[in-house]
Order: sequence, then structure tokens, then C-alpha cells
Amino acid sequence: MNDLLQQLGIADENHGAHDGNHWLETPGGAELVSVNPTTGEPIATVIQADEATYDRLMQQAQAGFEKWRLLPAPARGQVIREIGDALREKKQALGQLVSLEMGKIRTEGEGEVQEMIDICDFAVGLSRQLYGLTMHSERPGHRMYEQWHPLGVVGIVTAFNFPVAVWSWNAAIAGVCGDAMIWKPSSKTPLCAIAVQNIIQPIVARHGVEGVFSMIVGRGSSVGEKLVSDRRIPLVSATGSCRMGRRIGSVVGERLGRSLLELGGNNGIIVMEDADPNLVLRAVLFGAVGTAGQRCTSTRRLFLHESLHDEILDRLVAGYGSIKIGDPLDASTLMGPLIDEGAVDDMTAAIKQAKEEGGEILCGGNRIDGKGAFVQPTIIKAHRGMNIVREETFAPILYVFKVRDYDEALEIHNSVDQGLSSALFSTNLITAERWLSAAGSDCGIANVNIGTSGAEIGGAFGGEKDTGGGREAGSDSWKIYMRRQTVTINPTSDLPLAQGVDFGV
Ligand code: NAD
Repeated sequence: MNDLLQQLGIADENHGAHDGNHWLETPGGAELVSVNPTTGEPIATVIQADEATYDRLMQQAQAGFEKWRLLPAPARGQVIREIGDALREKKQALGQLVSLEMGKIRTEGEGEVQEMIDICDFAVGLSRQLYGLTMHSERPGHRMYEQWHPLGVVGIVTAFNFPVAVWSWNAAIAGVCGDAMIWKPSSKTPLCAIAVQNIIQPIVARHGVEGVFSMIVGRGSSVGEKLVSDRRIPLVSATGSCRMGRRIGSVVGERLGRSLLELGGNNGIIVMEDADPNLVLRAVLFGAVGTAGQRCTSTRRLFLHESLHDEILDRLVAGYGSIKIGDPLDASTLMGPLIDEGAVDDMTAAIKQAKEEGGEILCGGNRIDGKGAFVQPTIIKAHRGMNIVREETFAPILYVFKVRDYDEALEIHNSVDQGLSSALFSTNLITAERWLSAAGSDCGIANVNIGTSGAEIGGAFGGEKDTGGGREAGSDSWKIYMRRQTVTINPTSDLPLAQGVDFGV
């Protein structure tokens, strides 16, 4: 473990504030201990930042933005390209740190770093494609077009479960768009953030980029609130629970700022009678058990057509029995721990409520005794009258519903408050098209014969309803990180007014 930490520049005690140039010597806040969820033992400590340190970072970020915004976008892309290369070199080490601190298995930890590399590649291409449209003016000889300018200093608030990738989704795109940024990572995974900062620092220093990529570890209720309510931050991109999103959305909305909210999901898979059961099994196992059910896109609800219900359920229960649970860094492990004891308590409470509401536990249902926040992945036979199935419990609980037909499944599927990811398994083209129509899935992500988990960076990622409506990463998500300016140029010696208005002068 020590070798790994050393490679990534993590000491026993670390400073939790970087102003885009240096680590600040006296961040001013309380000490935070980062705990390994596999063993319950401390990994290292971080001195958190206080609000005065936040202000220092903000000043640097504003100064950094003044220069960064004037660099041509392709030159900003070059910096992001080199950040991607540095991440390639450190992929294994950073991926393992993600496993150590967050608890996801090694291949997923490294996969998360691959996602960072992918978004850097995407952003480099984008740096030459920040296109605006041109329009035909109704006024003779006039020219109209729109152009996109950098927005300012962007606040990035991230959740514990993707402790590095979500930063990169924002930072790579905001970076080529010409924004500076302040990242507030989750206090449950501060070391991952410190490692990222250490990886990128030599590159930004080599390019003389200052104050653009800064990071602050601090409590949501102090430093987080300060950032969110700061009028100097035109855009807050926040990933986390719906509760957090409600708070951030209202504070940012109150000051008429922009927010990009990526919040909780309650993702379902509908399995029709003509589905391929082998695909269903693999997709559900990865979706519901992978990352110990701690992905925003984790499969939480499964709707099985009555003709396949018993067969698939029997095979799923058998599959759950063969999942190897343990140290996420061990190559044979398929499920690591939950993030902490609080998450174990939340899972226990949800299972208790499910039982009280008439749910039937088919497998799992308990915590695993011993060191670490380990639990059994759990399948619960559910019915639509249960309240708990409407909530996101960030743990490996799968609620299974028996359905008569597509209409019944869709109706229950769409009846929850969240709207992130969804999937249909069917080989019937007509059912698939109904699912993808305006009257089908109400989620931001709708898949066919692919599970709910594991999006690619090329598509816009995000969800509807209480998931917050934000879109990150691919497609045209870059537009939220820029300000659009509509320009009209009059090269004539006349001053015609639009809509034919005659003002008599
Ligand atoms: P959380 O809401 O507890 O915390 C997320 C972040 O918000 C943390 O950095 C936290 O410190 C910060 N925060 C909390 N209150 C704040 C405030 N008032 N002001 C500023 N910052 C504040 O979430 P979590 O437990 O870290 O992550 C799990 C949740 O995140 C789940 O609900 C999951 O679905 C969601 N998530 C969503 C996506 C997505 O893209 N839709 C991706 C990953 C995780």
C-alpha cells in the first residue's frame, strides 16, 4: 500500500487545498481521516480547508481564468491531451487507489481511469469543434451568427462513488471551453482527488497554466455551501444524492446561477417474454451487484415477464451465490465493500422496511461479520405497493416484480421520481420501438438489450425528473460550460429595424 501511495504523492498527512499552482501549507480546517472500507483502517489524513482558504483559491481561479480564456481552444486542448497521457501512465496506480479508498474492484477502478482518458481524448477533438451557427438576417446586408465564449470559474462537486471520473467529465470539457474550476471532492474519497491533482500538476506547470485546475477538500456544509452560494461561480456542476441536488439547485437558482445536476437514479430493467435470458443474467448481475450497487446507474428494479419469471429468478439467485465478495484489489473478487458503516446501516434499514411492506428476501439480506463494510447482495421479491422500491438505497438490493405484459411493466417502471437509466430486453422490434418512443421510457438513458450500468463518454450522460436534468460528457454537453453570444453585424449605411418597425428617425 505504501508504494502505491508514494507513487501518487500521498503522504501520511496531506494538505487539502490546491490553488492550481501549489498545495496550500495551512488550509485551516479540521483533520479528516480517509478510511479503507475493506478493513476499516485509516489510509492517510487530510487537513481540510476553511472558508478563508476557499477565498484564496477563488482569487487564483479568477486570475487564472483571465489568461486561460484567451488561449486558443486548440492550445487548451493540447494541455488536456497531455493530462490524458499522464493518466495513461498512472492508470494502474490511480485505479488501485480508487479501489483502496472507495472499494470498487480493481477492473472497475482502472476502468474509471480509462473513462478519464477517454474524456480527455474527446475533449481534445472538441477543442477544434466548438461550433456556432450562422443565420440569415431579415435585414438587408446584415450578418448574424452565434459564438461561444468561456463562462468563468466553474464549481465541480463530486460524489464518492466515482471519485475521479466525474471530475474529468467536467474538467476536460470545461478546460477546453476555457473555464477555470474549483473541485470539491467527496470527503469520503479525498485521497483520490489529491492523487489526480498530483498527476496533472506537472503538466499545467510545464504549460505555465496557473489557477485553472484547483481543488479543495472541506465539509459540504461549510466550504461546499460557500462555493455553491458564490456569485463569482456562474456554473455549479454537482453530482450526488437528490437531497444534495435539491439544496444546491435552490441555492444556485436563488442567485440566478446555472447548475448542472447529476443526481440519484432508481434504474429498472424490463424483461419481455422474447428476451435472451443469458444476456439478461449477465446484465443484471453486473448492474445490480457491480460496484456493490453503488453506481448512480445500478440496476435496482427488475420487471420479469411472467413466462420467464421463475427461470430467470432461479438462475439469478444461483448467480448471486457464486459472487466472490472480498478485497477489491484481489483479482478474483467481484464485489467489494460498501463505502462505510453508514451505508451498511442504510441497507439494513431498507431491507427491514421491505420486509415490513411485504417483500420476500430471496437471497442475501445481511451484513457480513468481520472487518470492513461488507454486505450480502440481496434480491427481494417485490410488489408495486411497497414504498421502499421508490427510493434509491445506495447498496446491492434488487427488487424483482412479476409482470403480465409490457404495458404493466412500463407503467410501474416510469412511476418513480427518479429518471436516470433504463433498459429493455426484447428481441421484438415493435416492443423496442415502443420503449424508445415518446411514450416509452422516461429516463435520460434508454437501452435495448444492454443493462442500465456502464455508459460510454460519447453520449450525453444524465437523467430526468429528480435525477436533476443535467447532461455531462459527450454529445453537445459542452454548451453548458460556455456562454452563447448572438452577434449581428451591419456593414451598410442604413439602420433598418427588425420586424419592419419604423421609428421615424
Ligand atoms: P452526497 O449527496 O452525499 O454527496 C455528494 C457531494 O455533495 C459530496 O462532495 C458532498 O460533500 C457534497 N455536498 C453535500 N451537501 C452539500 C452542500 N449543501 N453544498 C455543497 N456540497 C454539498 O452523495 P454521495 O453519497 O457522495 O454519492 C452517492 C449519490 O450520488 C447517489 O445518490 C448517486 O446516485 C449519486 N450519483 C449520481 C451520478 C449521476 O451522474 N447522476 C453519478 C454518481 C453518483
